[in-house]
Amino acid sequence: MPIRDEQGNQCHHIVRLHLRSLGMPRVSEFSALANAQRTYGPHGICISFESGMSMPQAVDTATQCVELVNVNVGTCLMNQGTFNPTMTAQQSAMFGIGDIQSIPPRNILAVWVENVRKEDGTRLAGCASHPADRGACVVAAAGSLWTLAHEVGHVLGLTHESGTRNLMSTPTSSISTNPPELSASQVATVKRSRYCQRV
Ligand SMILES: [Zn+2]
Repeated sequence: MPIRDEQGNQCHHIVRLHLRSLGMPRVSEFSALANAQRTYGPHGICISFESGMSMPQAVDTATQCVELVNVNVGTCLMNQGTFNPTMTAQQSAMFGIGDIQSIPPRNILAVWVENVRKEDGTRLAGCASHPADRGACVVAAAGSLWTLAHEVGHVLGLTHESGTRNLMSTPTSSISTNPPELSASQVATVKRSRYCQRV
């Protein structure tokens, strides 16, 4: 029996996703998940929902209590697996959820918060800057239909594309296709990612 995702797509590769909500997303977590499955699934890449949880808006770490309603993501460097020296205390606390809750290292943690801002105040729909040992991204409550799938794409090694038809176009609120496109080379990149496992 072939493995299929909830959308009926046959899975040749699996990306394991854990969802956490610290905000109130306009596009529900499960709609965003289904949209990600509809985007990657036709390419044989299934986005597997591994766990989900709503959480209090502050997280106690060993050293500090950090408010995570409005998250400062610093310069939001797309570090793509390399340690990002600009990781803010808020990002560290947020992605520390993964360690606290023992999320496996080659899984991806996606966290919704109310607002995502760069250190210069620029508002973002999401940010995929994450520690080298923790595949993770943050999504703003006002993110679009495709923000989760797009940020997961960054974690999987994808960079921005021009136009409005591709998943990695920006802003995702301008994406004009449903589901958005992924090119053959993008699919190949995703399949090479340490966060994508062959089944
Ligand atoms: Zn992006």
